[in-house]
Order: sequence, then C-alpha cells, then structure tokens
Amino acid sequence: MPNDVVSMLDFDSLLTDEERLIQHTVRDFVADRVRPAIAEWFEQGVSPVELAPELGKLGLLGMHLTGYGCSGTNAVSYGLACLELEAGDSGLRSLVSVQGSLSMYSIWKYGSEEQKQEWLPRLAAGQALGCFALTEPDFGSNPAGMRTRAERSGTDWVLTGNKMWITNGSVADVATVWARTDDGIRGFLVPRGTPGFTASDVRHKLSLRASTTSELTLDGVRLPQSAMLPHARGLAGPLGCLNEARFGIVFGALGAARDCLDAAIEYATTRIQFDRPIAGFQLTQAKLADASLELHKGLLLALHLGRLKDDGKLRAEQVSLGKLNNVRESIEIARTCRTILGGSGITLEYPILRHANNLESVLTYEGTSEVHQLVIGQALTGIAAFR
Ligand code: FAD
Repeated sequence: MPNDVVSMLDFDSLLTDEERLIQHTVRDFVADRVRPAIAEWFEQGVSPVELAPELGKLGLLGMHLTGYGCSGTNAVSYGLACLELEAGDSGLRSLVSVQGSLSMYSIWKYGSEEQKQEWLPRLAAGQALGCFALTEPDFGSNPAGMRTRAERSGTDWVLTGNKMWITNGSVADVATVWARTDDGIRGFLVPRGTPGFTASDVRHKLSLRASTTSELTLDGVRLPQSAMLPHARGLAGPLGCLNEARFGIVFGALGAARDCLDAAIEYATTRIQFDRPIAGFQLTQAKLADASLELHKGLLLALHLGRLKDDGKLRAEQVSLGKLNNVRESIEIARTCRTILGGSGITLEYPILRHANNLESVLTYEGTSEVHQLVIGQALTGIAAFR
C-alpha cells in the first residue's frame, strides 16, 4: 500500500527540486514539533505561538515576500508550506498565514520604509507577532460598512471602534487596523500596549481551538501620522491582503484533507469487522477513491493557480474558485473519512474530526463560500449580486 496518498498522480514530479525540498522540510517540522502535541493544544485551546521563532528560522514567515529578512520563495513553495502546516493543524497554518500574508504583507505592500524597517525583520524572524483587523461585530462579509473611525486630532489620529474574530489579536505585538476616515478606509499600525487598545479572546470555540481569536477594542487610541500605512487607500488595501492569504488556503486546506485520508486508510486497513479489514469492503473503497479523486483535483487546481501567481497572472476570481472548491471538498473529505473510523472518529486520538471542525472556520474566514460564489458569479455574468 502506498503510504503517501498523493503519490497516485506523481504530483511531486510537477514540482522543482527546491519546491520539493521546502515541502519536505515543513513536513518534517510538523512531524517533530506539531504532531506530538497538537491534540493537547486543541483540547486545551492553546495557540502554539512559542513556535514562531522556529517558523521564522525555517523562513516560513512572510516567505513569499522579498527583502527585510523574508525568504523570497515563489508562490508555489509558499502554498506547499501552507499545505504541510495545515496537515498538522489549520490553527498553525492560520498563525503563519496571518503573520505572512495579512500582517507582514500589509506592511510590505502599503507601508513606509520606516514601518518596513521597524517591523518586517522582527516579524520574519518570529520575534514579533502581527494580526490583521478588518472584521467587526456587525460587518463581516460586508467590510465596506465598517464603523471603526480614525479622526484627525492635530497631527495625530484617534481610532475608535471594535474589531471581531481577529486571529492572534491578543498575542500580537502589532495590529494592522482598518478604519474609516474622511479620506476613505485607511490602515494603521497599532502596537500592543497603546493606551485605549485592548483585546479579549473568544471563548468556547469548537473550531480552530489551537489558534487565538480575539475581539479588539479601540477606545480613543491616539496614534501619530507615521502609524498610517501611506500606500493603502480604500477597501482595495485590505482586500489585496486577503487575496494573498486566500491563496495559501487553496493549498492549505488540502493538507488537512490529505491527513484525514492518510488516517482513514491506515485505520481501514487494520480495523476488522465481519472477519476482514473494513478497507476490503467496496463501500469503504468507494469513499477512499472519491476522497482521493477530489484531493488530486484540488492539488492540480492549486498548483495551476500557484503557477499563474508566479507568472503574475492570477486574478481574484481565480483565487475565489480555488478557495471555494478546495475548502468545500476538504471538508467533505474530512467528514467522509470520519465515517470510516466509526466511533473512534469522534475522538482527538485521531486527527480527522479536529480537521473537520477546523475547516468550518476556514470555510468562513477569508471570504465565506457564499461570497466566493458571488465573486465567481459576477465574473461569469458581469452582474454583481452582493446586495
Ligand atoms: P456574516 O457576514 O454575517 O455572514 C453570515 C452568513 O451570511 C454567511 O453564510 C455568509 O456567506 C452569508 N452572507 C452574507 N452576505 C451574503 C450575501 N450578500 N449573499 C449571500 N450570503 C451572504 N477577520 C479579520 O479581519 N481578521 C482575522 O484575523 C480573522 N480571523 C478569523 C478567525 C476565525 C476563526 C473566524 C471564524 C473568523 C475570522 N475572521 C477574521 C472573520 C471572518 O473573515 C468573518 O467571519 C467572515 O468574513 C464572515 O463574516 P461574519 O462572520 O460576520 O458572517
């Protein structure tokens, strides 16, 4: 039996030596540093932020960005790293995605030289953590309605409002906060400890438990002009960052799916019912075959989008297509694989239901499935159906 469930199409042969090396390095890191502890972190609701310096040393934080201590790899390598991290847990991949694609990217793309020098090397090394605050309690899918305001006060800015569901919110050293100004939506870098800026964690989550999710309160937070990201204007700023993070999810979700399929095959070949391994039943094989089919299709789609991105040709609706398909199919794979484990499938002894629960968050954040359907629908028809 092949122990690598993605070997059937020789996916590896489509990668360069460097891409393969990066993928295997991250896979080994996850095996050594994540797998032994992840069930415990998930159960306790602990985000493994102490891994950040190790992730930095491996060059995984802001890895597809250039300069300022970033690795400058291609997009496919970044995607493959996301896939391997998410094979460990979506919470870990979220930590890396938010750090690299949302926090660091917002500074790298829209920041001043001083802002880049101040934050990017530390964020790349994992010596500082970042978060990205767009969503509000009353404005999720429709961030254009945001109420958080930044008002002028002499040469300073004063920010007031609430942000909700912010990954790494309470553990971040710097938050990229998006706020409404008289000049449209602008981004601000808010260091931890700034007076008036507080974070409280969302409790009782049933998904992404090995990740910190917070509500942020900005109560008259005074910032100098130099805290504003000078090159982001309007919603295009935050949406540009989200497109980066979504790309990582196109690959990442498949890591969770692959891990589920791995676990299901291993279980099915050893679990005996009616005097034979359950892997020998046709119904079980049909489930495994369909899961493998969707996993391979998802991988080819992800790789194609990665190659387009590396050629500078990737469009937003193409990322929507990839995210919609690969997260939706990954959840389906996880749920199907869970049935193969029967009762054992509902415990944390196996990774499958943890992945399935995590993927519920992945289906919702970075644009819900419905929003991505609308993006694709608009690209197909030329008609926006958002409102
Ligand atoms: P809503 O927007 O209220 O949507 C509820 C339902 O209505 C969904 O099914 C949605 O698809 C549907 N819906 C809404 N509008 C339409 C429409 N026009 N047509 C059809 N259906 C529609 N945000 C950040 O800014 N930073 C983060 O770091 C971050 N991390 C997150 C981590 C987690 C674990 C989670 C769960 C969320 C995170 N988010 C973050 C927020 C996330 O992006 C939002 O949850 C998401 O955008 C959806 O917003 P909402 O939850 O308010 O749902």
